[in-house]
Parts: sequence; C-alpha cells; structure tokens
Amino acid sequence: MKRIISLLILTIIIVACGTKRTKVDQLEKTVATAQQIKKEIEIPKSSAVQLAADVSFLASDELKGRDTGSKGIARAATYIQNRFIDLEIAPYQGDYMDNFNVRDTDAFNVVGMIPGTDGDLKNEIVVIGAHYDHIGIMKAVAGDSIANGANDNATGTAAVMAIADHLKKIDFNRRTVVFALFSAEEKGLLGSKHLAKRMKDSGENVVAMINFEMIGTPMVDRPYLAYLTGHDGSNMANVFNKANDQLIVTGKLDQAAQFGLFKRSDNYPFFTKFKVPAQTFCTFDFTNFDHYHKVGDEMSEVNSQHMAQVVDAVMPGVLEVVNGNRLKLVSNE
Ligand SMILES: [Zn+2]
Repeated sequence: MKRIISLLILTIIIVACGTKRTKVDQLEKTVATAQQIKKEIEIPKSSAVQLAADVSFLASDELKGRDTGSKGIARAATYIQNRFIDLEIAPYQGDYMDNFNVRDTDAFNVVGMIPGTDGDLKNEIVVIGAHYDHIGIMKAVAGDSIANGANDNATGTAAVMAIADHLKKIDFNRRTVVFALFSAEEKGLLGSKHLAKRMKDSGENVVAMINFEMIGTPMVDRPYLAYLTGHDGSNMANVFNKANDQLIVTGKLDQAAQFGLFKRSDNYPFFTKFKVPAQTFCTFDFTNFDHYHKVGDEMSEVNSQHMAQVVDAVMPGVLEVVNGNRLKLVSNE
C-alpha cells in the first residue's frame, strides 16, 4: 500500500511537472546557443494587411494628427492598448498607460511587456519602441489641415505591435521585453525621457533599446533594408545582419550622422539614462518621402509590404537581442 501511494505521488508529481513544462523548457534543454534557437524557432511572417490596418486607423482624419493632449491621441492610445489586450501582451507594471504631463496637459505612453523566461536573464530588459504621437493640425494646404503622421510614426508604432505579436507567439524570450509607444516625441522626446527616467528610478536593468521611425517607404538604391542611427556606436547593426541569413538588414546612412538623428528620436533618452545600445531603425532616406511634417503624410503614401519586409528582416536580430549575448557599446557618441 505504502509503495502504491508513493508511486501514486510520484505519478502526480510527474504529471504536474509535465503540464508545467513549456516550450521554453523544452527548447532550453535541447538548444544551447542563440544560433541553435534560431533553427528551432519558426518566426511568423508579418501581415501587411494588419500593418496597413494599424497605420490607417492611427493616421485617419478622425484622429486629427495625434497631437499630444488632444482627443485624437487619446483614441490612438486606446487603440494601441486594445491591440495589446488582443495580443495578450501584459501591461507594464500593472498599467498600460504611463502618465506624465506636458505643461498643463495630460500625456501618456502606452506600454506593454512580455516577462522573460530565464531565471536570471528575465531581470534584463530590452525595450522595443516607437512614438505614436504626431504634430496635429497645421496650416491648410488645398483645404487639408490635418498632419496625419502615417509614415511619421504610425508605421513605427504598427511595427512594434507586429513584433510584440511575433514574440508572444514565439514564446521564447529569456530577457523581459517592454513594448513602449511614446507620446510627445514631437515636443522634444518627452514621453521617452519620462519612461527612461521612470525605469531608471525604479532600478530596472535596461540592456538595450530598439526604436522604429518612419519605415513606410523603401530606401533608394541601398544594399540594405533600413539604416540604423548611431550605427558605429554599438554592435547592434552587426548582430542584426549576422542573425539574418536572407538579406542585409541594416547599414549606415551618412545623412543620419550628419543630421544627428541618433539624438533626435526616442532611443536617445535610454542611451543617456542607461548607457547601453539604444538605436533607431529607419528607412526615410531624405529622398524617398516628400511629406515629412506635412499634411500629405497619409496612408496612401505608405507601402505596407515594405513595412512587413522590414519587420520580418529585423525579427532574427530581435530574437538574438532578447535571448543571446548582451549587445555592446563600441564607443560613446
Ligand atoms: Zn518621428
């Protein structure tokens, strides 16, 4: 009887462990390196239709250019939050809305997360971000006064949601991943400054920040798909290119350095606060889009197939950053 009971207990334990065993446990037992993980994991393909739907909503006239503090941006924030809920992306620190003030108006970043799966590495955070605000209403051109901000930066916002979707489905991220859609970028990177400070002050260990800006139109005559700001400042470009064996993901655009783009988007506050690789992927090459900060920045100017290609191209690198060796700074900019 005693033997039967202990056998029974053993069986129960085995069954209990069996149900708890996740894909992660299985993978961690069978694969050792990030290189091997890549072979084991099937990365879902991005949907150009979903990317286009996200950009279309965010850049619609009803949202009136998503100016910080406006009713339109509040609708955009609710939309992003609902997308996170649909994708089963958890709220960051219990709340998707990360509130702050811009002078006397309320502003909010929308922030979700997937907790890390590795006992130690889960304390390291990779932030994947984009700003979702834009500049609102401007002087009318041919009766149109809404700066829709489709390329800038509904495209980056949609890309972050697509990456969140993929990572959730892949279900293998040793590090914790935080998805941050920033407000008030156009007012001086205020949303990202707020979140970077909040994370620093609460003792979070951010090890990398990957940002997306204006990925709605293909670059002209380049061997790579997207450039990376602060290209030489870390090994990020190298890691993304090595991780993808299909194409050259990223390269260096001289104008990016010339115009100081490294310091002009939401990656920068994370660099200054945490002194870790924090850079922006972008495909606006100064020749391939005539509507920067104009009323003509509309969905009709955005190529959603290209967006899908960019997201698919960066995914192996994203997986490497969240599971593999920590990215390294090469020099301080
Ligand atoms: Zn922008």
